[in-house]
Amino acid sequence: MDEKNATAQQELKMPHADGTYRAVQAVSPGKLELVRKPLVYPQPGSVRIRVEACGVCHSDAGTVEGVFPIDWPRVPGHEAVGVIDRLGAGVEGWAVGQRVGVGFLGGSCGHCEECRGGDLINCRNQEFTGIHHDGGYAEVLIARASGLMSIPDELSAVAAAPLLCAGLATFSALRNSPAKAGEVVGVLGIGGLGHLRVQYARHMGFEVVAIGRGKDKAELARKLGAHHYIDSSSVDPGEALRGLGGAALVISTASGGKAVAQIVNGLRPRGKIVTLGATPDPIEVSTSDLLFASRSIEGALTGDPATGDATLKFSVLTGVAAMIETMPIEKAPDAYAKMMAGKARPRMVRTMQGGDR
Ligand SMILES: [Zn+2]
Ligand SMILES: [Zn+2]
Repeated sequence: MDEKNATAQQELKMPHADGTYRAVQAVSPGKLELVRKPLVYPQPGSVRIRVEACGVCHSDAGTVEGVFPIDWPRVPGHEAVGVIDRLGAGVEGWAVGQRVGVGFLGGSCGHCEECRGGDLINCRNQEFTGIHHDGGYAEVLIARASGLMSIPDELSAVAAAPLLCAGLATFSALRNSPAKAGEVVGVLGIGGLGHLRVQYARHMGFEVVAIGRGKDKAELARKLGAHHYIDSSSVDPGEALRGLGGAALVISTASGGKAVAQIVNGLRPRGKIVTLGATPDPIEVSTSDLLFASRSIEGALTGDPATGDATLKFSVLTGVAAMIETMPIEKAPDAYAKMMAGKARPRMVRTMQGGDR
């Protein structure tokens, strides 16, 4: 260990003098409880983080409802932002006091075939935060250094948190897509992930089409930067997209399989649907809709840490921000229940500085 790290190992003041921290953990399917846990040291290759904010994401249900095989009790949460307070052995490139973020992917191993090929998202030895090990619904979190993202000074912990999962997934899918500036990009659903998607798509220079059910979302979609709004409850969204010249890309949230199938023939030749959300019902499409214009559907799982850094930087540059409401840690079960009931009506806590709308 070099001299800098040796002095840096002096710990930040921890939340409680008795050597414990507060956490909200899932103890059985659907049941969350507030507990105190003893503080532990980070393992080699990991850091200990004092958590300042953690987003409540729909995928947290994977832990709380036991969709994934869970080793109870388990602390959910994979949109955590905080400050490193201790480095495990062998951690390089990170320092105590540094602001970091932890997303769904818990950090790649660096030695499997995928890692060696540069595909960090699909590392074979990667754990999922809040599923295989404790996540961010807590005052303290241990995380693998290889999965950390760096938080820019301009972003508060609260503003950065939702960008680490919802934001990163969207940004990564748009940036890696074949769509070029000026082409039509559809955003299916403008809820949790969708409202960020519209903003990112607008700021990346696409002609943005928001697709939702009902007229009431039209105004919000336009306010977020959509050039067009398609109400899929009153018109055929595929036909409406074709009327706009066809979409080069449609990004889809956890929409049902029918909603996705309806969109396929709204894609232009070689157009693509990228689906980011898990849905229980299958996507049913006609093979001829795929064959005859070389259309495709693919899945994308969040993004790698470097793309996470880029997401945060891009958000600062463009003013893209999530609509947020905040709750203290002891209210985490309420926040989760509200999100599951679809009642998390987010409000703006940060004004958007886009200037072009
Ligand atoms: Zn998430
Ligand atoms: Zn690996």
